[in-house]
Amino acid sequence: PLILGIETSCDETGVGIVRGHTLLADAVASSVDEHARFGGVVPEVASRAHLEAMVPTIERACETAGIQLRDVDAIAVTSGPGLAGALMVGVAAAKALAVGLGKPIYGVNHLAAHVAVDQLEHGPLPEPCLAMLVSGGHSSLLRVTDVTVGVDPLGATIDDAAGEAFDKVARLLGLPFPGGPHIDRAAREGDSVYVDFPRGLTSRRDLERHRFDFSFSGLKTAVARWVEARERSGEPVPVNDVAASFQEAVCDVLTRKAIDAAATEGIDDILIGGGVAANSRLRAMAEERAAAKGIRVRVPRPGLCTDNGAMVAALGAEMVARGRTPSALDLPADSSLPVTEVLV
Ligand code: ATP
Ligand code: MG
Ligand code: FE
Repeated sequence: PLILGIETSCDETGVGIVRGHTLLADAVASSVDEHARFGGVVPEVASRAHLEAMVPTIERACETAGIQLRDVDAIAVTSGPGLAGALMVGVAAAKALAVGLGKPIYGVNHLAAHVAVDQLEHGPLPEPCLAMLVSGGHSSLLRVTDVTVGVDPLGATIDDAAGEAFDKVARLLGLPFPGGPHIDRAAREGDSVYVDFPRGLTSRRDLERHRFDFSFSGLKTAVARWVEARERSGEPVPVNDVAASFQEAVCDVLTRKAIDAAATEGIDDILIGGGVAANSRLRAMAEERAAAKGIRVRVPRPGLCTDNGAMVAALGAEMVARGRTPSALDLPADSSLPVTEVLV
């Protein structure tokens, strides 16, 4: 069956088309440039951009896939979590398509979609697998047995998300928003042991209560203090070295906890998803450290890690393949949809 997926949880208007595990089109329009001067996503601006980009992006996806809308067998849409107004644009568009075409609709969880997308690149998900979702809004470790039924949260950030930390530290270093890719690039030219930044929630005491949880706000503050001290001394801030040292601290904690969680749960496969999974150091470190423990790592290519419609279509296709009951046509846009609820 042919599935069209719509994603509008944040600042990307994504429309993906898949047939089973085959990706036919992945059209994305981003309003990120409009938010850049505010240093973060402005919800109203994002909603308006989705409204304008929605139909052209659907048309572009159909053209790329070489299909007509009437060929589509089911619609999938991100129901949450995300920005309420942004989600509503996608959910309304998906309902209009479902009603107009007389096809079922699946309102799905954005986080589960970040997990499901890997099937488009590497085939069926290993069951169970340990998913590490790291994005601008989330940092979680999840046990996934069947991505169409539910996921078990093992741990999550207790303050900032990993991507949020990348964005805030980039801002401190005078790098553009969103900061992740800029820090990634700067870090390649930097010394990762230049500053020994703190690794949040890794002390023996913290591990007792927060073994699989993350904390990145202390790290961000440590970087801010370090940069301020340097500026006060009148010396130039070595941007590349600070970026590399910060990135090393984030990747060290993420990979250590993901591997510890997989080993503890007896899981042999780690799947990394979300925008931060595009980070080159994270990918390399995870693979190297996991291999040493006999654990495999799967990471989708960077374009499938950041928000897109293909991931939603991928999860929709899995819902259809596993015979899940479609959503009702009054399905909500739920900005705080819990990660345990994968189908609305
Ligand atoms: P949500 O959290 O709801 O999934 P989001 O828009 O933040 O929403 P993504 O598009 O998955 O989700 O991720 C964007 C985040 O990923 C940003 O914080 C960005 O800085 C970060 N990011 C993107 N590329 C990289 C990279 N190469 N290295 C580190 N972080 C990156
Ligand atoms: Mg985004
Ligand atoms: Fe996302």
